[in-house]
Amino acid sequence: MKFVHEVARKVPVFADVDVLVVGGGPSGLAASIACAREGVSTLLVERYGCFGGVISQVGIEGFAWYRHDQTVEAGGLSFEFQDLAKAVGGSAKEPQSNSEALDAEMFKYVADKMIREAGVRPLLHCFAVEAIVENNVLKGIITESKSGRLAILAKRVIDCTGDGDIAALAGAPFTKREKLSCVTPVFHCRGIDGKRFQKYIDQDLKPTYGDWKGDWAMTTNGKEDDMFSPYLVKPFIDAIRDGMLKKAANIDYGGSYSTVSPEGDVTQFNAVFISGIDGTNVEDLTNAEIQGREAVVNTIAVLREYVPGFENARLRNFGMTIGVRESRQIEGYYRMTGEDVMNQGRFEDSIGIFPEFIDGNGVLWIPTTGRYFQIPYRAILPQTIDNLLVAGRCISGDIMAHSAFRNMGCCVVTGQGAGVAAAISVRDDVPTSEVNIAKVQEALERQNVRVF
Ligand SMILES: Cc1cc2nc3c(=O)[nH]c(=O)nc-3n(C[C@H](O)[C@H](O)[C@H](O)COP(=O)(O)OP(=O)(O)OC[C@H]3O[C@@H](n4cnc5c(N)ncnc54)[C@H](O)[C@@H]3O)c2cc1C
Repeated sequence: MKFVHEVARKVPVFADVDVLVVGGGPSGLAASIACAREGVSTLLVERYGCFGGVISQVGIEGFAWYRHDQTVEAGGLSFEFQDLAKAVGGSAKEPQSNSEALDAEMFKYVADKMIREAGVRPLLHCFAVEAIVENNVLKGIITESKSGRLAILAKRVIDCTGDGDIAALAGAPFTKREKLSCVTPVFHCRGIDGKRFQKYIDQDLKPTYGDWKGDWAMTTNGKEDDMFSPYLVKPFIDAIRDGMLKKAANIDYGGSYSTVSPEGDVTQFNAVFISGIDGTNVEDLTNAEIQGREAVVNTIAVLREYVPGFENARLRNFGMTIGVRESRQIEGYYRMTGEDVMNQGRFEDSIGIFPEFIDGNGVLWIPTTGRYFQIPYRAILPQTIDNLLVAGRCISGDIMAHSAFRNMGCCVVTGQGAGVAAAISVRDDVPTSEVNIAKVQEALERQNVRVF
């Protein structure tokens, strides 16, 4: 590869704050709101024009599709997001659980409202591109936007970019698997005859989680096998058999949808899986977007041909970006394991709990039993770089732990924990590596989080 040298230049300081949160997905929203509520100045930077991350940018609505009568959860901001979405008409009954599916579009407004009310300073259309590090301490970031290159200085930084961009830029250690989880172009359809479609699902197909063991080759622990799941794979198997659908080697078809509206929308088709894509490689992302859109058009053609009620279906919209499930995992002072999430891990430095819900790496467990695990503060604390915390799907853990903590509800738990910890470390004037965890836990409990 050829290189050029960038010319050194003076960069204006746009802001100097107590806490900077980079990335406005489930973890970044929670981190910034929790932090601002602790009374420190908080700036939230996001590269796109809306907050919400995978919810509003990819179109994922199943925030708590795991929820059943016995499910035990942390509460806190994750419940607040869902309650506000419902109150403003931004959700609908989720078909497979006790929860509400978020309306991915309305969630943009929900997120705006929550950060405004918490007193978080928002900055959209602003991409973090450099970390400012002195003696292994993170001092801020450099951003690119329509305003050019701007610096933002902060006493503490929380990396909620999903990909661990800030940690990587700062030189903190991370891992990235050779064979990453598939990426998905999520889409929404309109023009469906909802009654005919529902009859097909309820009376003909009767899909269950047990079906995930087929094409998706998922292992369950048995208790979920007969439970209903809005899962469509048969039409794609039939279309491939009939020669209607030509399958590229790196794409699998078939998957779930979220809601069926009275107006004839069927939302959040999570039914195209593209392998071999690294979400931190710009050329891979480009290929996935273009290949993904073509696959979506093919998918809709299959649905029109094989699924009753879809004869006149049309594309309502693509998600505004490809959905990336996995990229970097930071190396924290504790690396969560499959053993922790499958065997109710308990930690003295817990910052919150998450039900025993595992969805990924070939395993599906639905939390119908009341079992749950705790998340240690050390898993969001990167090695070697101080005053940096990481929350969301890129915290420290192996692939099986990732299959649990990547879920949005858990990203909110780690975000809220990081936000409160950053605020307390500022208030007490101690680095994030030395924050008083008992104080963090007390503050989280005041914010209605179940810590143990
Ligand atoms: C296709 C798909 C389906 C899924 N289905 C479900 C589901 O049904 N239920 C569930 O609970 N979870 C689901 N997940 C997982 C879940 O959505 C994600 O793991 C979760 O959203 C991660 O949250 P996060 O806050 O870590 O990151 P994200 O939600 O990815 O948010 C990161 C934010 O940071 C911004 N950002 C990134 N880099 C920069 C930068 N350098 N500078 C500024 N901003 C930046 C992004 O634009 C984004 O807004 C799914 C994921 C995918 C991809």
